[in-house]
Amino acid sequence: MTSLSEPFDAAAASAAYRSALDVISAVEPGVAGAIRAELADQRGSLKLIASENYASPAVLLTMGTWLSDKYAEGTIGHRFYAGCQNIDTVERLAAEHATALFGAPHAYVQPHSGIDANLVAFWAILASRIEAPALERAGARHVNDLSEDDWQRLRRDLGDQRALGMSLDAGGHLTHGFRPNISGKMFHQASYGTDPRTGLLDYDALRAQAREFSPLVLIAGYSAYPRKINFAIMREIADEVGAVLLVDMAHFAGLVAGKVFTGDFDPVPHAHVVTTTTHKSLRGPRGGMVLCQPEFADAVDRGCPMVLGGPLGHVMAAKAVALAEARQDSFRRYARAVADNAVVLAEGLMRRGARLVTDGTDNHLVLLDVSGFGLTGRQAESALLDAGIVTNRNAIPQDPNGAWYTSGIRLGTPALTSRGFGSDDFDRVAELIVDVLSATTPSAASSGAASKAKYALADGVCEKTRSAAAELLDAHQLYPGLSLE
Ligand code: PLP
Repeated sequence: MTSLSEPFDAAAASAAYRSALDVISAVEPGVAGAIRAELADQRGSLKLIASENYASPAVLLTMGTWLSDKYAEGTIGHRFYAGCQNIDTVERLAAEHATALFGAPHAYVQPHSGIDANLVAFWAILASRIEAPALERAGARHVNDLSEDDWQRLRRDLGDQRALGMSLDAGGHLTHGFRPNISGKMFHQASYGTDPRTGLLDYDALRAQAREFSPLVLIAGYSAYPRKINFAIMREIADEVGAVLLVDMAHFAGLVAGKVFTGDFDPVPHAHVVTTTTHKSLRGPRGGMVLCQPEFADAVDRGCPMVLGGPLGHVMAAKAVALAEARQDSFRRYARAVADNAVVLAEGLMRRGARLVTDGTDNHLVLLDVSGFGLTGRQAESALLDAGIVTNRNAIPQDPNGAWYTSGIRLGTPALTSRGFGSDDFDRVAELIVDVLSATTPSAASSGAASKAKYALADGVCEKTRSAAAELLDAHQLYPGLSLE
């Protein structure tokens, strides 16, 4: 397997980046230095952050272009600015690739991020299910045509809707109706958890809760749930209670694109609306996207100006490039390897005595309960980082240490699989992780909250792990042949 799905011309990419850095350096050398340092950091660490990846040079280079300089509010064929023909081209290409890749009736590729994609989706659902009937009742074509009384009634109705999403400690995301995010201020929210005995989603309990709560939006999707979700059952539940099914596949879009999740586990044929990021397992530029059934297409296309400002032409162009890459057979092999590698990582950890939430994985991530090592997530994350292993701490279900210190570490395989790591490599990664955590002790010197952060690593462990990691990284170069010197 090649390390990236698309082979690239290393000499041409090296020349392009060297020239670009010269130009940048002449204005602000600090930025050029940070760009160089970031490549070195990415090359030199075992990146296991489940939400990160390495975009191809083609995707990255596409973003550094003058498509960034054009305003193009509106949608293709309905712009509020003149001269948008080239933005039309890239937006159309990105949407065509997205609909073909995911088999979706409609794609909206303007959202700047995952949070924006979810906001567009929420407001499109509210526009279709609450605003449109209100306009019809009032005999109005547009909100500006409503009387002040009808407008105030509509505003109250919009603010009186319910959403049901997965709880944060079960792996849900802040944008699924939680108070610190704007979605929690828009909706009355309730959350569903997982079965405390298995850590798995309990569809019967969810069905009962949905009947009781009667949400307008049932949200499926996660940041830290290590299992696949049956979207056919989710849709059945949504239909039963008259809810709109919104699936946020930000994390696992690459597994959907690569046909690892098919049938009942592919959200696209089952959900009314699907949102995603484009930069995680999908391996594109940082951004978001909405796919939807025809019923929601017009409302979704009003994302700008409903929620968004002018679209990022350079990023939509990079989405088109990334989606074209994801349509290659090589991306399917990549996605399969991401899931297979996660199983190897999970089994390697469990064989060495670690406890995993749900005792395994069937997606791209693993949630490791580090309390068995006597550590908090914060201590484990820091110790692993000292040893050159980049992860992030994450709450586990019913976490006694809360969302800040946590009891878990989330590990993902998309990035290292992009470098060409295979099953032997991931088994070695599991060994290194267990070695580091076993050699870490909470620091006895401190007390109170600080004791949840402080730790000590046995002598020599960092050096030993860093040198073992360097061997793995050397064997699987990031952007092989690309040189900035
Ligand atoms: N949805 C899910 C499930 C996520 O995991 C994330 C990011 O972590 C987002 C949405 C938000 O994405 P972004 O950071 O691009 O706004």
